[in-house]
Amino acid sequence: MSRSTTTLPTTQVALSSPVKGVLVPLETVPDPVFAERMVGDGVSIDPLEGELCAPVSGEVIQLHPASHAVTLRSHDGLEVLVHIGLDTVRLRGEGFTPHVGTGDVVQVGDPLISFDLDHLARSAKSVLTQVVVTNLEAITGLMPATGVVVVGDPVAHLEVLRSVDGPVEDPARGGGHRVTSPAVVVVNPSGLHARPAATLARRAQEFRGEVWLARGDVHVNAKSIMAVMGLGVGAGDTVRIVVSGPDATEASAVLSEAIVEGLGEDTTPAVPPADPTGTKPVPATATAPAEPAEPDDCLLRGAAASPGLAVGTIVQIRHEDVEVPEDVGDHHLERRRLNDAIDRAQTQLWALENRLGAETGGEQAAIFAAHREILADPDLLDLATSAIDKGRNAAFAWRSAYSVYADRLAALQSEVLAGRAVDVRDVGRRVLEELIGAPGERPALPPHSILVAEDLTPSDTVSLDRSLVVGFATTGGGASSHVAILARSLDIPAVAGVDARALSLPDGTRAIIDGSAGTLGFDVTDDEVERVWRRQARRTERRAVELAHADEPAVTRDGCRIEVVANIAGVDDARTAVTRGADGVGLLRSEFLFLDRRTAPTEEEQARVYRQVAENLHPGQPLVIRTLDVGGDKPLPYLPIPPEENPFLGERGIRVALSRPEVLRTQLRAILRAADSGARVHIMFPMVSTLEDFRAAKTILETERDRLGVAPVPVGVMVEVPSVALTAARFAPEVDFFSIGTNDLAQYTLAMDRGHPQLAPRVDGLHPAVLTLVRQAATAGDAAGRWTGVCGGLAADPHAVPLLIGLGVRELSVAVPAVPAVKVQIRALDLAGCEKLAGRALAADSAATVRALVPLAHDEEIA
Ligand code: PEP
Ligand code: MG
Repeated sequence: MSRSTTTLPTTQVALSSPVKGVLVPLETVPDPVFAERMVGDGVSIDPLEGELCAPVSGEVIQLHPASHAVTLRSHDGLEVLVHIGLDTVRLRGEGFTPHVGTGDVVQVGDPLISFDLDHLARSAKSVLTQVVVTNLEAITGLMPATGVVVVGDPVAHLEVLRSVDGPVEDPARGGGHRVTSPAVVVVNPSGLHARPAATLARRAQEFRGEVWLARGDVHVNAKSIMAVMGLGVGAGDTVRIVVSGPDATEASAVLSEAIVEGLGEDTTPAVPPADPTGTKPVPATATAPAEPAEPDDCLLRGAAASPGLAVGTIVQIRHEDVEVPEDVGDHHLERRRLNDAIDRAQTQLWALENRLGAETGGEQAAIFAAHREILADPDLLDLATSAIDKGRNAAFAWRSAYSVYADRLAALQSEVLAGRAVDVRDVGRRVLEELIGAPGERPALPPHSILVAEDLTPSDTVSLDRSLVVGFATTGGGASSHVAILARSLDIPAVAGVDARALSLPDGTRAIIDGSAGTLGFDVTDDEVERVWRRQARRTERRAVELAHADEPAVTRDGCRIEVVANIAGVDDARTAVTRGADGVGLLRSEFLFLDRRTAPTEEEQARVYRQVAENLHPGQPLVIRTLDVGGDKPLPYLPIPPEENPFLGERGIRVALSRPEVLRTQLRAILRAADSGARVHIMFPMVSTLEDFRAAKTILETERDRLGVAPVPVGVMVEVPSVALTAARFAPEVDFFSIGTNDLAQYTLAMDRGHPQLAPRVDGLHPAVLTLVRQAATAGDAAGRWTGVCGGLAADPHAVPLLIGLGVRELSVAVPAVPAVKVQIRALDLAGCEKLAGRALAADSAATVRALVPLAHDEEIA
């Protein structure tokens, strides 16, 4: 559940004054770069003399060419910047005399730079001299001193994390307690590609020592997913784990064992799954291009990447190379800019991951989770920051770093790693755009576009207007590339590795893409087009039937009405939900309004959006608005939550709202103001674990409602923490409804992180333990006359639908596209049968047994 790190021991360290002067709090420095701690944390000194000395013992890692700033790395691993004056870079060295150079080792109190204080006072914006720790991750606290100091006096006391101590050891140089594992054979069919590489890196990060993966003489940092992937380890290759540090023996044993076991991957060779019905589309596996039966100049071949057939017109997509100036910036500022850009990109990726996870399931979301991992890769960041330290600006340094990485991967001549190179470039570009702004808008796509490109990035594919695109053809990548995965989950036919002649087809060429056969036909005849249309018609017929009945209620054969409502993230989704026959909205994930922006949305902005959502539903339909559900694992730049060891058990959901009541107050007022817009607005609180939390939130709601003088709205609670399900009978009299968040309820019940690469597939809400909690909530709700719904992913799972109904759930809130199929399934059920089935499921001993209990007459329609 947590991305946990063990509690790290700390040591107390003092920063010594580098100069005689008067201490000034950093926040009062008239430069936001320091005052807002963009560069780091520390103190400022109003100097009384012009001799700057070392505040710590260590190595000079940077002396600015203008000699006004110097950075030392202490023996404790602290990076300490001393910056003389403000805007003194403009003096270009005038008035400064350095006594050290980069690489020199100094003792605390040794002279570093002499400066002409009078000259500075006349020519600089300020003489205030800053002493700041720039690697804040290395410290857990900083206590500044006050008063007048002379050289050597303490200016701040720090808690330094011991795990960052000391220089990184190079295994080739030896030293320390080093353990090398016996040679182990890599059993993963595709070698150490992204997923096993990520697993190895994550597991290696659990150890304190330095960990390397070695193939032959080449050692790479095993804590870096990029470095592990970049080693290009293939199936059957022999590798060793080399570790130095206090836990070396354990680390080497654990990690080599993990490699032998396949790093969480199914290591049986992939066999294309058989399709017993003969009706399912071609499965999502890499398929080598078939040999042409006869030459056809107008048929380009590639690999079948995503099944389906479509007629459309070619649109060429090219990624323009953006101009990135190389000009030199202040390296601290540039580091900070890069970090900020990466943080913003992480937030966007997190938002994408969550949206896609909610809408389309795990596979697409996992791609953006992998992108977040790439952004956290220490080697990639090192590459970028060392370029910054050499004087490049953040954008230039970042682009060089990710390009080098991507090129290295692409050069490994592996289809899988080439696919990962596309991901590195994609996520790299995302950060670059944060640094230099997005390139101009792309021209609008015509309807029925078949996009042709060397590579389409995952970001391209999720941002495009699905209604205008009927196919993808890329000359790069393969059937296992992320784009192929996305194409499959978007249900768009795709061909990967297509003949490069595709790139010279003019825009507007009429073409047929066959994602099952892996072909792109161009200059097609009317006859061919007609044949395709006939086949397409048969394929969509079944879906059309579902859709035709989508507006009808979902009533079981014995007359039990189930509300099938939608999970949405905004106004567009609300519009689509209505066209798919949703009976309303069971979950508006309001956090999507809060993401991807630098400041919180105002009450007015929020009220406008909630009103628009409500107005797009049919009058009287329910609209359940969940209050902001963010937390330590889902950062918002304007709502900082200190890093937590265990974010899923930390400040999340209602806990964030209650610790920042003004944010909750604003949101509740906005919802209440939109409550008269046609739909029946409900308010729901997420991540509640105690009755006190619920009562505190409800008190704030009632206060705001009184102030606004508006009518009450139904207030519910999400049941996503076991404590709420277990005490549902005590909640029931105080709430108007329960909505069960099975995604979280399953992870908290089974104590398995829903995003964990190995555990996530086992976080199955059909586990009898979770079903028992569902029943408990529904029974308590029913006894008090409250309805119970399910808004987690289980609600659209065809195995779960009859069981949830049998357990007493009367509302299913599902991703918008799933609405018509879930309704079809319900109409074929009868309540008595569902109740019997649910009884057997509760008595089963595993989720797999439960799944086996449920016969699926409709799985194909619903899939
Ligand atoms: C859930 O936990 O099931 C749920 C619907 O909330 P989310 O997936 O947004 O955490
Ligand atoms: Mg949840």
